[in-house]
Amino acid sequence: MGLQHHHHEHSGAGLVEPARAALELAGEQWTEMRADVFAALAAHNRLVSAYDIADAVTAQRGKRVAPNTVYRILDLFVRTNLARRVESANAYIANTHPGCRHDCIFLICDGCGKVVHLDDDKMTGALVDAARGAGFADVRPVVELRGMCADCS
Ligand SMILES: [Zn+2]
Ligand SMILES: [Zn+2]
Repeated sequence: MGLQHHHHEHSGAGLVEPARAALELAGEQWTEMRADVFAALAAHNRLVSAYDIADAVTAQRGKRVAPNTVYRILDLFVRTNLARRVESANAYIANTHPGCRHDCIFLICDGCGKVVHLDDDKMTGALVDAARGAGFADVRPVVELRGMCADCS
């Protein structure tokens, strides 16, 4: 715990296989609908809402997919470490390291909604230590930094 380590980060289509493996390891099935929701999520490196994903999957399947269905699948993905919820934006992003748990740090562009992801276990570990020092247990840092990306600033 708290040690720095290197892991592979995946993106786009290359993320599908590790995500599938992580979901099956959690005892869940990689259904066609879950695969489609994950593909729609992984196609973006910016903030996407459950509604955006419902629209994308609806367009791809040619059949309406209810946002509630997408919400349930996204919840499952968050629980099983395939996706992260960006709390400050009520949005989701694919987790680029589904086999590996970190308290990820997200940089979010106010201009275009792009999300850049950093792992610094030393920094988030310091936050956990500080919270424990204040008497908190089961601490999960939610670290989201807002600013302008290089393209927008
Ligand atoms: Zn991370
Ligand atoms: Zn931007």
